[in-house]
Amino acid sequence: MEDALIELIEALRSGTPVDEAWLSKLLRRHNRAAHDARRRIAKRRLLPYYLSIKARDPEHWASWNVDEKTEAALLRILRMKPRRTASGVATVTVITKPWPCSSDCLYCPNDIRMPKSYLHDEPACQRAERNFFDPYLQVRSRITALAEMGHVTDKVELIVLGGTWSDYPEAYQVWFVHELFRALNEYDGPAVAGDAPEERDRRYRAAGLTYDVDELERRAAELQQRICAGICSYNEAIRTKLDGPSWSQVAQWQQATFEQLECQQRLNEAAAHRVVGLTIETRPDLIDSESARTMRRLGCTKIQMGIQSLDEHILRANERHVRVAQIAEAFSTLRRFGYKIQVHMMANLLGSTPQRDREDYLRLVSDERFLPDEVKLYPCCLVESSRLGRAYRTGKWAPYPEDELVSLLADDVLATPAYTRISRMIRDISSTDIVAGNKKTNLRQMVERSLDERRSEVREIRMREVATGDVSVADLQLDCVPYHTTVSDERFLQWVTPDRRIAGFLRLSLPADGDVAMIREVHVYGRVAGIGSTEAGGAQHAGLGRQLIERACDDARARGYRAIRVISAVGTRAYYRGLGFHDDGLYQRRELL
Ligand code: SF4
Repeated sequence: MEDALIELIEALRSGTPVDEAWLSKLLRRHNRAAHDARRRIAKRRLLPYYLSIKARDPEHWASWNVDEKTEAALLRILRMKPRRTASGVATVTVITKPWPCSSDCLYCPNDIRMPKSYLHDEPACQRAERNFFDPYLQVRSRITALAEMGHVTDKVELIVLGGTWSDYPEAYQVWFVHELFRALNEYDGPAVAGDAPEERDRRYRAAGLTYDVDELERRAAELQQRICAGICSYNEAIRTKLDGPSWSQVAQWQQATFEQLECQQRLNEAAAHRVVGLTIETRPDLIDSESARTMRRLGCTKIQMGIQSLDEHILRANERHVRVAQIAEAFSTLRRFGYKIQVHMMANLLGSTPQRDREDYLRLVSDERFLPDEVKLYPCCLVESSRLGRAYRTGKWAPYPEDELVSLLADDVLATPAYTRISRMIRDISSTDIVAGNKKTNLRQMVERSLDERRSEVREIRMREVATGDVSVADLQLDCVPYHTTVSDERFLQWVTPDRRIAGFLRLSLPADGDVAMIREVHVYGRVAGIGSTEAGGAQHAGLGRQLIERACDDARARGYRAIRVISAVGTRAYYRGLGFHDDGLYQRRELL
C-alpha cells in the first residue's frame, strides 16, 4: 500500500497528469506485483491509510515530503463519491430514536426497530442503530467516514430524520440538537469530562441496549410479528418498548434546556465544523407559528414536510388525516418565517392513477398556495410491515408498470419550475424489503434517459447543477425568476452558464405584509473548499454568494422594503456579520434605507 501511495505522491509532486485511468493502472500494477489477493490495494483504502499515518505517525508521514499543494491534489484524486459534497457542504443525516407517530398512514412502514416510516436496512438507519440513535455518536461516525473518503467537513448540513419530529417531547428535541452541535464543536478536541464517545457507548450498553445485529433481530421479533399480524399497532408496540427498563433509563439523560443549546450554538459560530444548514421533518398539520418559532430557536433553516398528495380523496383513502387547507396554511407559515420548504410527494398511492398523479403534481408546482423549494418525489411501494398489504392482496392497489412510472416521473420533472429542486426520486429502501413496487435503484437515471429522448428543456435545479465540473466565473450571468405566492412575491436569483446550468442561487422573499424582506437561502455550487481557503476551479470563493446578497438587497430596496433579514444557520452568522448584517433575535438583519 505504502509503495503505491508514494508513487502517487511523487507523480503529483512532479506535475504528472494524474486521472482515474492513471490511478487504476498504478493500482493494477501494484496488485499484480503483490501476488496476494487478500491484501489488494483499492482506491478507497489509500486515503484512510494516508490520513492515519499523518495522524498517528507524523515522523513517518514527514518522510513522504508532502507539501500543501501535493496534498490538495492527492485529496482530490482519492476523494470517493465526490457528488456527496459537490454542492458545497458535507451532508450528515441522523435519525431520532424509535417513537410513536400521531398518525398511522396506510402505506407507512412499521419497523419496531426504527422511528415510524423508517426501515432498519436503510444506510442512515443502520448507522443510527449502531450508535444507539445517539446524535453525538452518529455525527462523529459520519464525519469520520466522510473525512476518510477525502471530503472536507468544515461546512456541515445536518438532516434530522425519523417519524414526525413534532411528536417528540420538547426536552428531547432540544437535547438532540444540542448534542449535534456539541459533537461538531468537540470533534477535533476533548469531550466534556466523563462523556467521551467510549464512555457514552458504555453507558448505553450498561442500560441494556445493544448494537449486535442478531440480538437486535431477536429482541424485535415478537413485537414485530404482532404488528405484522395486525394484533397491535406500531404505536402500541413502540410504547411497550419505550416503557421497558433500557429505554426508560436512557430517556432520563436525553434532556437539555434552550440555554444549554444556545451555548453550544455560540461555540459553533467559530468551530472547525460549522452547521451551515439544519433540517427537520414533520407534518403540515403540526406546523403553526409557535412550532415554527421553536424550530427556529433550535437553529433550523429547512423544514421537510410530508405532503404525499394534494387530493382530498387520496389523502382520505390512505388514512392521512391532513386536509389540503392545512397543507396550504403550513406553506404560508413556513414562508413567513423564512424557511426553505422541502416536501415529500408520493405517486401511486391507493386510489390514484398516473393521470391523477400528474394533475396532483402540477397543482403542487403551479398553485400559489404551495410552490415548494425542493421535492422528494417517492413512488409508493409496499413493504412487508405496512397496512397497505391488504389492499394489495385484494387487488385494490398495485404498483404502476415500470414504463408508466418512468413516463409519469419524466412529466413531473418537465413540469417543475426553475426554482424547484427534485432532491430524490427513490427512497433508500433495500429491494429485499419491497414486496411490490419499484426496486430499481437507478430509477432516476431511467427518467433522465427518457427526458434525453424527448429532448425537452428541463428547468428543475438538480439536473442543471454544475456539480463537480469547473465553472468559468466570467461566463456566468445573473438571472431572476420572479413568482408569486399567497403571502409573498418571490425572486429566484440564479447564476447560470451560457448553456443554462446553474452555479448558484438565492431565494428572496418579499412579503405582502410588512416592510422587511427575507433571504431564505443562498447556495453556491462548486467543489468544497475549507472556510477561508481556496481551491482551484471551485465556485465557492469567487464572491458569487456575496454578489447574490447585494443584488437581493438592491431588489428589496427598490421595492420599498426598509430592511432585509436572513434565516442564517448558526455556522454562517459570522459570514453575514461581515456583510453588514446584525443579530436580530432569531434572524440576522441589515437596514436598507
Ligand atoms: S405521518 Fe409520516 S411517519 Fe407518521 S404514519 Fe404518516 S407517513 Fe408515517
